[in-house]
Amino acid sequence: MIDPQAMMSEFCELVRVDSPSLREAGVAALIHDRLAEMGVESYIDQAAATVGGNSGNLIAHVPGIPGAPTVLLNAHMDTVEPGCGICPSIDGTRVCSSGATVLGADDKAGCTIILGTLRHLLDERLPHPPLEVVFTVAEEIGLVGAQALDFGALKAKMGYVLDGGRTMGVITHAAPSAYKFEWEVRGVAAHAGVCPERGINSIRVAAEAIAEMPLGRLDAETTANIGVIRGGDATNIVPELTRVRGEARSHSDAKLERQRGLMVRAFEQAAQRHRASVEAQVTSTYRSFDVAREEPVLDYAWRACERLDFEPQMERGGGGSDANVFNERGIPSVILATGPADVHTVNESVDVERMAESARWLSETLVLIAEEAQ
Ligand SMILES: [Zn+2]
Repeated sequence: MIDPQAMMSEFCELVRVDSPSLREAGVAALIHDRLAEMGVESYIDQAAATVGGNSGNLIAHVPGIPGAPTVLLNAHMDTVEPGCGICPSIDGTRVCSSGATVLGADDKAGCTIILGTLRHLLDERLPHPPLEVVFTVAEEIGLVGAQALDFGALKAKMGYVLDGGRTMGVITHAAPSAYKFEWEVRGVAAHAGVCPERGINSIRVAAEAIAEMPLGRLDAETTANIGVIRGGDATNIVPELTRVRGEARSHSDAKLERQRGLMVRAFEQAAQRHRASVEAQVTSTYRSFDVAREEPVLDYAWRACERLDFEPQMERGGGGSDANVFNERGIPSVILATGPADVHTVNESVDVERMAESARWLSETLVLIAEEAQ
């Protein structure tokens, strides 16, 4: 049975254990114990060695009916800041934080849903495919836990990422690629009152470059932002050094490449005009994916949703998640709605009824996959 009250208590227990990115060990231990109570063994992988936190990813293999494709289930264990000392408060079926921190439903709602689903499948002895359950670390700081997974050890043919939005039935089937940019503009320092003509103002160079590049929402598929600018030391010094950081995302790789070119060139040209120098560092944060309606991973979730009398919907996401990594590494994966609202803010909340619906949806999907393999 999927019991919303039991899910509520498990969720509250999970959010009370602090797990900002790179400090997930406590919550990994709690999930490990909950799995052990169901008779499911789990282990921590080697990810901490590359990621640098106090825990690796927590992985469990659950045997299923022979002949069914192995399915990956994923949620991430880390939460964004301010996320320490979370004190969940309950109002009916809704849980929110005290207002001083996030709630951490992103993604402990996903963790709770996976635990609730597994418990339900095992208690009721429902047919299900072999499962690879992966609770990742460090998703929020660039999907680095998922990137450190040993994909050679995973057999999954498809994956469900429980890290979605509020509305039941929404399947996020596509997400953009993204670049991160870091520029270092170097001018020449000089006394601003005595000999400004000897200086080259790096803030001026950065400002001109930023003013020239397209930013914000560029089209339905593409966005770009300059988010950080730091430069200068005093009003009476022509600033020598300015650092600028930004990003660009697009569902179309061609558009993303074009935008990358425009942003990089804007800095080069502004630097040239002022005889300053600029160094750009461009890193690919994650790669886009787009799972088609007829792909089995999406089709099973779609039909399971209909069997539960919810209206399935396909949606394109605007951000990166571990699903980007799984798709890139050859495991077609979609993101299922988990119920939270206002994530990454102190107003974050989740309705436990939505979480229970999501667990029913996930169970139904897995039962459907098993039924059709028999
Ligand atoms: Zn998340």
